[in-house]
Amino acid sequence: MKEENNIETKRMVQGLKTSFKNFPMVPRVVYGRGSFDQLADILLPKRKNSEAPFIFLVDDFFEGTDVEKRIPWLFNDQIIFISADEEPRTDQVDALVKKIKSDFEEEPSGIVGIGGGTLLDLAKAVAILVKNGGSSTRYQGWDLVNRPASYHVGVPTISGTGAEVSRTAVLSGPERKLGINSDFTTYDQVILDPDLVGTVPKEQWFYTGMDCFIHCVESLEGTYLNAFSQSYGEKAYELCREVFLDDIGKCEAEEKLMMASWHGGMSIAYSQVGVAHAMSYGLSHILGTKHGIGNCLVFQHLHEFYAEGVALFHKIREKHGIVLPKNICTHLPVSDLEAMAKIALAMEPLWENALGKEWKDKIDVQTLISIYRKI
Ligand code: NAD
Ligand code: ZN
Repeated sequence: MKEENNIETKRMVQGLKTSFKNFPMVPRVVYGRGSFDQLADILLPKRKNSEAPFIFLVDDFFEGTDVEKRIPWLFNDQIIFISADEEPRTDQVDALVKKIKSDFEEEPSGIVGIGGGTLLDLAKAVAILVKNGGSSTRYQGWDLVNRPASYHVGVPTISGTGAEVSRTAVLSGPERKLGINSDFTTYDQVILDPDLVGTVPKEQWFYTGMDCFIHCVESLEGTYLNAFSQSYGEKAYELCREVFLDDIGKCEAEEKLMMASWHGGMSIAYSQVGVAHAMSYGLSHILGTKHGIGNCLVFQHLHEFYAEGVALFHKIREKHGIVLPKNICTHLPVSDLEAMAKIALAMEPLWENALGKEWKDKIDVQTLISIYRKI
């Protein structure tokens, strides 16, 4: 109590007006093996009429599989298969919205994203853009969306990114890779069905799973940490340790990693990521490296920032026999390395979280280039 009074007095003396984030959460979530089959019942009351379709944006890995057969399409609903080989782009979102508007007179009843972070982000962005005019590039940034998105449902099929729970949809645009961060981005409904992740290849499982692990390390080691983020971050970290280091069964591991992804996403909602994510953005922008593997490529060399987390990362990598690609940056021209470093350093909140308010005194382009050269 005394401490609280002191903090309050300090704020008054400093004339600080505190503004706390008031962020949205996913209002409805179903969890359980086989829960994907509940999708039909979930969508039914949301159907405006038989002319207003549901649009299912589905990772093309599922084309021709049992998952495709279980998609509960009705009337003139549309299933669009999309490759996750590349991360979502603004022109891709714009083209999808244009197609939906030209294929149907009625606005859709809603958008359903089925897949990993790529499809989940794409579906969030499409849901926003069918209700908000112009190109998706207009909404990259913070709180630029004016009208609520179309009803949207997310069904993750791989665990780690936390995209199922976050208020951002990360898009690569002509000028920048930046999320549509808004209160309308968050899903209205999520279905967490661990049965859907059973087919993920081992390396991809590791890369996307390590994204979650790195979210936890960067959140827990960051200066933005608070009790809210810490409670979720610690839980996700503990689940990651069990999944990747303990000899638990496949089913238990699938279930726990799905929950780790959710908690990791919740943790960074109220804190921030850090050095690996900032530097991975640089890699992605210049070389097109995907998020999960990009984070791993950087994180392996970040001992000086996250000693314990990096040691654990290597232990996990060795246990699962994962060999990370080498010589990705070693021979790049200095101009490319400089460009990467500058993109990374432009992610100011990430550095402030990682190194504190005086971060500019602690890091520079040359230090980042020397880390990139090791990749
Ligand atoms: P992904 O969606 O890019 O998919 C990776 C690969 O796994 C693809 O080949 C895909 O076809 C395959 N795959 C997915 N599910 C599968 C399954 N069940 N069986 C077999 N193969 C399957 O992977 P990701 O790592 O989940 O997502 C990366 C994306 O997430 C990036 O675009 C990144 O920017 C984004 N991201 C978003 C947030 C957010 O909060 N919005 C956070 C982190 C990352
Ligand atoms: Zn991430």
